[in-house]
Amino acid sequence: MVKINENYLLLQNSYLFVEVNRRAEKYMEENPDKDVIKMGIGDVTKPLTPTVIKAFKDAVDEMADGETFMGYGPEQGYDFLAEAIIKNDFNRWGVDLDLDEVFISDGAKCDTGNIQEIFDLDNVIAVTDPVYPVYVDTNVMAGRSGLIKDDGMYANIVYLPCTEENDFVPALPEEDVDLIYLCFPNNPTGTTLTKDQLAKFVEYAKENDALILFDAAYEVFITEDDVPHTIYEIEGAKEVAIEFRSFSKTAGFTGTRCAYTVVPKEIKIKTSTGDEQSVNALWNRRQTTKFNGVSYPVQKAAEAVYSEEGQKEIMENIEYYLENARIIRESLSDIGLNVYGGVNSPYIWVKTPNDMESWDFFDLLLEDANIVGTPGSGFGPSGEGYLRLTAFNTLENTKEAMNRISKLSF
Ligand code: PLP
Repeated sequence: MVKINENYLLLQNSYLFVEVNRRAEKYMEENPDKDVIKMGIGDVTKPLTPTVIKAFKDAVDEMADGETFMGYGPEQGYDFLAEAIIKNDFNRWGVDLDLDEVFISDGAKCDTGNIQEIFDLDNVIAVTDPVYPVYVDTNVMAGRSGLIKDDGMYANIVYLPCTEENDFVPALPEEDVDLIYLCFPNNPTGTTLTKDQLAKFVEYAKENDALILFDAAYEVFITEDDVPHTIYEIEGAKEVAIEFRSFSKTAGFTGTRCAYTVVPKEIKIKTSTGDEQSVNALWNRRQTTKFNGVSYPVQKAAEAVYSEEGQKEIMENIEYYLENARIIRESLSDIGLNVYGGVNSPYIWVKTPNDMESWDFFDLLLEDANIVGTPGSGFGPSGEGYLRLTAFNTLENTKEAMNRISKLSF
């Protein structure tokens, strides 16, 4: 008799964005004359830039010609893209990497979700709370989480709260943990860590034989000097950290799909027989077995992101989103709300007024200002009492939304 993986039944079933959409659509159906502005989305709105599109199209043309057609490529990605990545995203910050430490993929979602496969089920994982749900859910599916408790937390997962009280800087785990998921600049809070703050986690990982899984999907939004652009700017991080990056938010690749993961060869883990195992070799084995690479035109398009023109174009888009973020932050502060993030990130994390619950504030904004946000409680227990707004809408809609919120009284 077939048995299912019952760990899947432990997943919390009301998926956040489904409920957000259900409530927004119900409101729009009942109020067809209202102009609802969606500020909950985590997707970009600006199209791929001209330089990227040209490289993409040229590569498609190559595929149409027997002389230049490309079949299966290397599972780890083409060297031309890995070279551009190393030069632009790492050498620039004083970090050297070998080509075989970069694994090109079709998404940071898949990579951050798949990485846990190469680690034993007995490992204890720690996540910041609130959190990008993929880290938790993939560990639940694998059977690492234990049962869910009354407080909404899984019994075997260590949660590191990030709230107003600690300035959104997670404390080091008090328990002995093995795998620590960190995402900075953070989704959903939009806040980030300084080099010194991140260095404490690297030190912890070294002292406790732990490994950091560092998601830097929002690196391109960093504007402040003391914020690290890669965890490898921290001395010794190459021995204890894997880094995930994505072209999704950087260059509008959410629908095109390209990302990469850096697994330094310095990361060595002791096996049960006492031998040292390279994590890079394990990830390579996993990827070559289960993944057949990103399409050639997509990798050519990603390479074009790093050209001089490509960089100019994508930075114009990023600045556009950051200007929206600034408008949201300042407008909400002006009416007395406590707001966080939005400086090194497209996300603005708003403390609800008068200790309202996240969903109540969501409903209030929907009904009284026709604005859709994302309730913070959907990202974890410490997100209760907050709401996430994103800077990915148009400038006009962002201004209009802030205009409407300014007229509300709380
Ligand atoms: N990591 C974080 C923190 C994200 O917020 C997202 C997307 O929202 C991803 C990864 C997914 O990236 P990708 O589009 O490369 O799968």
